Amino acid sequence: MQSWTQLYRSVTTLNHQLPYKLHGAATVSVRTFADKAAIDADVTVVGSGPGGYVAAIKAAQLGFKTVCVEKNATLGGTCLNVGCIPSKALLNNSYLYHMAHGKDFESRGIEISGISLNLEKMMAQKSGAVKALTGGIAHLFKQNKVTHVNGFGRLTGKNQVTATAADGSEQVINTKNILLATGSEVTPFPGIQYLIITTALLRVSGTADFCVLQGSVWQRLGSKVTAVEFLGHVGGVGIDMEISKNFQRILQKQGLKFKLGTKVLGATKRPDGKIDVAMEAAAGGKNETLTCDVLLVCIGRRPFTQNLGLETIGIELDNRGRIPVNGRFQTKVPSVYAIGDVIAGPMLAHKAEDEGIICVEGMAGGAVHIDYNCVPSVIYTHPEVAWVGKSEEQLKDEGVPYKVGKFPFAANSRAKTNADTDGLVKILSHKETDRMLGAHILGSGAGEMINEAALAMEYGASCEDVARVCHAHPTVSEAFREANLAASFGKAINF
Ligand SMILES: Cc1cc2nc3c(=O)[nH]c(=O)nc-3n(C[C@H](O)[C@H](O)[C@H](O)COP(=O)(O)OP(=O)(O)OC[C@H]3O[C@@H](n4cnc5c(N)ncnc54)[C@H](O)[C@@H]3O)c2cc1C
Repeated sequence: MQSWTQLYRSVTTLNHQLPYKLHGAATVSVRTFADKAAIDADVTVVGSGPGGYVAAIKAAQLGFKTVCVEKNATLGGTCLNVGCIPSKALLNNSYLYHMAHGKDFESRGIEISGISLNLEKMMAQKSGAVKALTGGIAHLFKQNKVTHVNGFGRLTGKNQVTATAADGSEQVINTKNILLATGSEVTPFPGIQYLIITTALLRVSGTADFCVLQGSVWQRLGSKVTAVEFLGHVGGVGIDMEISKNFQRILQKQGLKFKLGTKVLGATKRPDGKIDVAMEAAAGGKNETLTCDVLLVCIGRRPFTQNLGLETIGIELDNRGRIPVNGRFQTKVPSVYAIGDVIAGPMLAHKAEDEGIICVEGMAGGAVHIDYNCVPSVIYTHPEVAWVGKSEEQLKDEGVPYKVGKFPFAANSRAKTNADTDGLVKILSHKETDRMLGAHILGSGAGEMINEAALAMEYGASCEDVARVCHAHPTVSEAFREANLAASFGKAINF
């Protein structure tokens, strides 16, 4: 059996510390650098995360001769290798274990004995999902005729990228357009060097979400978890405060502990292996020490532009290390574009994907527009939290007149039959026009349901529009319809 430290390390490999090896998959068009002739391309994408690989496929589909340069051995970037995908495998499996192990199954008349946890197998399942999905991108590249170059890409001209392979050999790509999708890396915590800093734990937007999320995994597997958070609430920036309070209450009921409004000052490892974490109130005050076995740092990510050669073509970063772009994702050098985590905006895979697609459509002469207000956020705990659009606090701050419609899952027939009734749907709409301005869901499957809200908001729907759409019965998403009814007509039917 592996030790805890080994296991944590197995999920926490730092993306940018991986040695970049030549990709082994023979099925993709991988340049091995034996052939040093320069490649000519229409579009060269640097980075194969959700932003880069999706953009490369779309560019090829639009008829561009496309190259994608990736320094890591596998495609898929942070999201597929160490982010969204492995974390969801662990969340799902730890949830199933928790259900089977706790009292929940018993109360449903399912009696099982002798349940035990094989953490190594759980990790192996996670790795299997990652391998299948990253391999899937290689297959998609082949299908769409995207040339994959394995090496570290750097700008050597306004229309040139040079990729350096692990053996030091170089491949020059002369290209009409360059799309930088080099993503982000872990923000180190100043002064805390020895502990495990994990990409598998980082939040993507806001402050507390991934702390809480990963806390859920390890707490379900039997750890005692305390989340230390600088902000005074859980769920990070953008969460509606009513949802945040309910969310915190549910997580506390599950056993998670919170130290909110608290600042970590540093950490020291004791001779017995334990870690002392020094903290103080964010507003200033008495120092406190929390002792633990494992300290997971998830304070955020920062754009990754190291050795990219931006300076060689005169591109300067903004004050937060991001590449500045215009509305068409163009840098100050018109042939060089940038998308995803390396530019401004929430660090989310679906935001990077949308930017990638719309950016290459723009290169082909199409219109370029993304409504960032319609980009949803999800916290993948159980129950999940998901939202899109404005929170009640934001509407108040902006002085927008609004109505609120709510529906608790306790009054939803499917949630009731599933014995999974924690949470609510909260809809915010414009007081005069009834247009949906924000949707906030705390409940099982909120991350799926929020896409209905994003669709409605993208099309400028009113709450009445949504309330008049027939929803299948019995489904949990009927709660979404009911909350829209409540927002539009002042009353739901079933509550
Ligand atoms: C633990 C965790 C969980 C997450 N969960 C979610 C989630 O559930 N939902 C969500 O939306 N987001 C999630 N995210 C965030 C998401 O992973 C990122 O927003 C997303 O991956 C950004 O995509 P990207 O294409 O911009 O960059 P990345 O995915 O970071 O990809 C960048 C790629 O570029 C490569 N690269 C960098 N520099 C060079 C170079 N010079 N030459 C060649 N290659 C280079 C890197 O190796 C990497 O493969 C999570 C992140 C973490 C850490």
